[in-house]
Amino acid sequence: MLLNIATKTRLKKPHSMDIADQAQQQSDLSLEIAISNLRKNEPSLLYTGSCHYCDALVEKGCFCDSDCRDDYEKQAKLSVK
Ligand SMILES: [Zn+2]
Repeated sequence: MLLNIATKTRLKKPHSMDIADQAQQQSDLSLEIAISNLRKNEPSLLYTGSCHYCDALVEKGCFCDSDCRDDYEKQAKLSVK
């Protein structure tokens, strides 16, 4: 699990960090940012008047239907690695 790695790194004492640890911590940090972005994905999307996935016009929300929202979220998860 990705979250376990982040939790383990946080338990390390700062003075025991070497360069590899710092690099590891940095990648964990960007992972955490990516995960938290993913979690608040939908509310943080701006209303643009068109579906974020297929660009169809929508009167409200960010997606024309739940299929587009699901596909968009799947793509977002795939791009976070
Ligand atoms: Zn759509």
